[in-house]
Amino acid sequence: MDAGSIPAVSTKLYIKDYMKTFYDIEEQDRAISILQKAYLNDSIAQAYLFDGISGIGKSLVAKVFIKLINCKNPTPTLNPCNKCSNCIKIEKNSFIDLIHIKPNSTKEIIKIDKIRQIEEKIAYKAYNGKYKVILIEDAEQMNISSSNALLKTLEEPPPNTVFILTASKISKLPDTILSRCQKILFSPLSKEVIYAKLKLEYNSLEDNNLKIIASISQGSMTIAKEIIENNILNLRKEFIEIILLQNNTKLANLIKYIKKIIKEFKGENFYFLAFFLEILKSIIRDALIFNSKLSKNLLLNFDYINVIEKISTNDSNILIQEGEKISNLQNQILTNVNIETAFENYFISFLKRGIV
Ligand SMILES: [Zn+2]
Repeated sequence: MDAGSIPAVSTKLYIKDYMKTFYDIEEQDRAISILQKAYLNDSIAQAYLFDGISGIGKSLVAKVFIKLINCKNPTPTLNPCNKCSNCIKIEKNSFIDLIHIKPNSTKEIIKIDKIRQIEEKIAYKAYNGKYKVILIEDAEQMNISSSNALLKTLEEPPPNTVFILTASKISKLPDTILSRCQKILFSPLSKEVIYAKLKLEYNSLEDNNLKIIASISQGSMTIAKEIIENNILNLRKEFIEIILLQNNTKLANLIKYIKKIIKEFKGENFYFLAFFLEILKSIIRDALIFNSKLSKNLLLNFDYINVIEKISTNDSNILIQEGEKISNLQNQILTNVNIETAFENYFISFLKRGIV
């Protein structure tokens, strides 16, 4: 078979897989039902803010909702038909009444010229469908002038215009924008759903590793994939074994290791440092669960039960305080305050506190 010919059956499968409805989106029933009700009651808000960590389905829900409100033949279950010309154009990103702004990376700033384009384009009535939709993904990546420009449009949007902003860090958005949007909260995914999705996508990986990744991914498919693609499971093993497993760890060894990971992950990859702290925090959380006699199924780092048990002998208040110290350090890393010294100082004092 030459490369250009695709058997009919796989095309069919492709379409089935690609053209999603709300039924295909897992664990966001609450968000979906708010949107479906608004559609049903003809009370669609002028602006929505989809709030939740990345990799849990915000973009997908936005896409299905945009199809639904513009669909020529929506289903009785309040889903888009996925067959009409509007649904197909939205799927292919060629729908003239949809303005879609999405930064290419977590660092790209949404600049004012992009936001100004919105103003020009929404001056005209919807051409194809009922609604003009402006979808701005990762809206927290707008700078101040972009936010101000957007605010102007949000203050007096033309009729039948719907704004959908998605954000994983809504605290970075100005209050003036937040107050003009209806906030819709998206929840992190369960370990079970992440595991099932990973199993489909990475079936060559060892099953137990997939379970661990699902467990430590904080409910985000984006984080789960980052763990796999950056081989973080190995980094985690090394980190736990050096920081938490070596009895009587010599301070010099610890400092050497901390210096090594700082050197490796500063600059571009600085967020990995925050990830190491997340591992430590999750182990402390596990130790608290262990202490509270809650179900062992709730443990995230179930492959290091011996470490968890050892740390759980500390007083709960001490563990809670430790968790707070780690959160503070994570904030410092994100604000780029002398990362190296802060990181090193924390681990030296962590060891001195004798928690492990
Ligand atoms: Zn349709």
